[in-house]
This record gives sequence, C-alpha cells and structure tokens, in this order.
Amino acid sequence: MNAPEKLDESAVNRQKADLGGENIRKSNFSAPSRVLIVFLVWTFGIDLMLSLLLPNPQILSWPFAFLHVAILMIALAPVYYLSLYLPLRYYVRTSRHATQTLQETLDKVQKIVDSAFDGIIVINEQGHIEAFNAAAEKIFGQPAAAVLGKNISTLMPEPYRSQHDAFLARYASTGKTKIIGEGRELKALRNGTEVFPIELHVTETDTQSGRRFVGTIRDISRRKRDEAELKLANEKLEERVASRTAELEQVNAALNKEIAERKRIEARLHEFATTDALTGALNRREFDRLLINEYEKLKRHGTPLSIILFDVDRFKQVNDRYGHLVGDKVLVELAQLLKTTLRRSDIFARWGGEEFVILAHGNAQQIYCLAEKIRTLIAAHVFPEVGYLTCSFGVAEFSDKAAMMNTIGTADKLLYAAKANGRNRTEVESDESCLLAS
Ligand code: GH3
Ligand code: MG
Ligand code: MG
Repeated sequence: MNAPEKLDESAVNRQKADLGGENIRKSNFSAPSRVLIVFLVWTFGIDLMLSLLLPNPQILSWPFAFLHVAILMIALAPVYYLSLYLPLRYYVRTSRHATQTLQETLDKVQKIVDSAFDGIIVINEQGHIEAFNAAAEKIFGQPAAAVLGKNISTLMPEPYRSQHDAFLARYASTGKTKIIGEGRELKALRNGTEVFPIELHVTETDTQSGRRFVGTIRDISRRKRDEAELKLANEKLEERVASRTAELEQVNAALNKEIAERKRIEARLHEFATTDALTGALNRREFDRLLINEYEKLKRHGTPLSIILFDVDRFKQVNDRYGHLVGDKVLVELAQLLKTTLRRSDIFARWGGEEFVILAHGNAQQIYCLAEKIRTLIAAHVFPEVGYLTCSFGVAEFSDKAAMMNTIGTADKLLYAAKANGRNRTEVESDESCLLAS
C-alpha cells in the first residue's frame, strides 16, 4: 500500500470547514476602521445638516468648515467612544473568541476522526466525497486531496462503480435501501487498480446544507486471507480425515472379512468335531459331552431323563444286497427322518455303525412311547432302492442314584433283548405299555 501523500492545505481547510458544517472566515473589517468610518460619516452628516439649516450659506467657508468639524469631533468624541467604539470592540472580541473556540473544536474533531482505526468517508447526496480521514487515506492509498470532491464511485470497482449513482438516486426518491445502518462486505479499489475486500457500515445524517452519508470502512484483506487459509487447512484436514477413514474402513472391512472367515472355519471345525460326517447327526464324543451336562441337571433338579438305543435290523443284508453305498444312503435317510421327528430338546447322535442313540426328557414310560412312535415311523417309511426296514429299541431311564454308564449299559442290553425277542420292537426296564395312534 502506498504511503499517503502530504495533504494539501487548502483541501484540509476545506475538509475542516465541511466537517463543521459552517463556513467560518476571519473578518478583515477591524474595529478601529469601523469606528473611523462611522465617525466620519456621522460628522459629515451633521455638518451637512448644519450647513443646510444656516440662513446664509456664504458663511460656509473652508476654515469655518474645518473648525466646525474639529469642534464637533471634540464634542462628539465621548459620545462616539461610548456609543460606537466600546460596543464595537466588545462585538469584535466576542466574535474572535467564538471563532477561535469553533476552530479548536474543529481541530479536535479532525484529530479524533483522523486517529480513528477505521476509514471514515463523508459524502453528500450526489455521492461527492466531502471528508476522508487518515485511516481512509491509508486504506485506499490516496491522499484526501486527491479524492475530495470526487464521486465516491471512483473508489469502487465494477460493477459497483456503474451502479452507485443510480443507487443513490433510487434511495433519494424511494428512501429504500438495505445498506443504511447495516454492515456488509464489499469490494473496494486501492490506488485505482487493486481490488480488495472491505467491511462497510453506512449511516446518514441531515445537516443544514443537506443530507450526508457517513461510511465507516475497514480493510478486511487480512481477515479474508486468514479465513481462506483456514478454510484451505480445514479442507486439507477433512481430505486427510476422509482418506484415513477410507483406509480404516478398508482395513475394517478386511478385518471383518477375516473374522467372518475365521468364524466360518471355526463353525466348520466345530461341526467336524461334533457331528458325524456321513449322517450329519451328532457324533458320539459330542453326545457324551451333552449327556454329562444333562445328567448334572438331572442330579440338580431331578427332572426325568431317559435314553433310547436303537439298531437297524439285519443291516448287513442291505449292504450285501444293494452295496455299501446304498447302505450309506439308508443311514443318511434314517438320520434325516429322525431329525424331523424329534423335539429340539431331544439329543440325537450316531452311536456307531448302524446304531443310534437318543437322549430325551421324560421318564421310562414317556420315552418308551417316543421309542415306539419312532419305531413305527421307520417301519412305515419306504427307503429308496431298499424299501422297508425295521429297527430294534432299548429304553432305560437315568436316575441320580445309578451310575450314568450303567444306564447306557442297561439300554444296550434291552436293545439286544429286543433283537432276541424278534426285532422291530422296543424293550424297556419295567413293564410299560403305550397307546399309540398307529
Ligand atoms: P442285527 O443288527 O439285526 O442283528 O443284524 P445286522 O446285520 O444289522 O448286524 P451286524 O452287526 O452283523 O451288521 C451290521 C452291519 O452294519 C455291518 C456293517 O458292515 C454295517 N455297517 C456299519 N457301519 C456302516 C456304515 O457306515 N455304512 C454301511 N453301509 N454299513 C455299515
Ligand atoms: Mg443291526
Ligand atoms: Mg449293530
């Protein structure tokens, strides 16, 4: 920004005069000269009157006239002094004092205006600049002398420059504007070339010589630059955060994928570890684990729990007649049939070979009924390629007194008893009977 040039004296005086709103001039008409003029005019008038009143004008000679004037001057001097000189001297002194006081006030106002941090510009209704303080000189890079009297639009870039006169005229006719009394951000022109941002507040005031608009201007270039830098820094930060978030999301997605894969593998491993590969039923190891759990519950709560062991009758013949693979399919079909029949609380497992086991909640009589239901269901089922098959069942109830393995042994014995007693039947410890629907 250019340093403002030294202000032109006359321009400053004019500005000071305008700030005061009045034209104050020093009077050249001093008190003594006024007294002399009045004195002479008065004497001349008196003399003329006397001359006219005298009966013989011939006596009016020059010596007589001078003598006459001298006498009159001496006679009237005290009167002139008291009636003219003293009041006049009082008037002149009072007037000088008032002028001096006003001048001091104006100097003070000018200094205050010049020391303001913000630029202050006063324009008239035609848009002509009438006051331009030191801060305005600094902001616009021009001395007051260069802009005073010019149109304010010379300090504006396009399109504001072309629009400003019309704007003032519209305001003068309609009285409507958005700018008066409200601050707004605009663009201004420095040194006639450099466009820069300003914050402008405009107020208006009525003076004896018409309406004036007072603009308070602040150069906000630095603030705008800081804001732009901050915005840029924020955008960069957001970009970094976004790219980091994207990276983290990718890593997270990969981790989730890996976790899902691990869970799938774990589930698969668990399945391998707990189920029978051929039939999909639980394997014997898992059955043993679950049996211990259930047996513990039985001991705690005393709820009845029974076991069914069953074996396919003459399965060797199936293998021999239809082949081992068909035998496998029969075992799969049989397991599927059992899964769809049993309750969720029943635990079904392959005990080994063509032998299966069911752990069911209920006493011997209830589970005998269940075994009979299963037996008749299997006997009525048609196995593809093979046709009808039967199974023999042994049922034993657990008790908290007997050892767990003894109960399984009992069921096994009962199963073989069923085989010995003709197959396709269910043997239970006590004499149980069951009313079956079929
Ligand atoms: P029963 O039980 O009525 O006394 O006669 P069974 O013919 O069923 O008895 P056995 O124990 O003599 O024969 C069982 C047969 O089951 C022998 C074996 O080959 C067959 N077996 C065991 N496991 C499998 C298997 O996983 N797949 C096939 N296809 N056959 C199996
Ligand atoms: Mg068998
Ligand atoms: Mg067997």
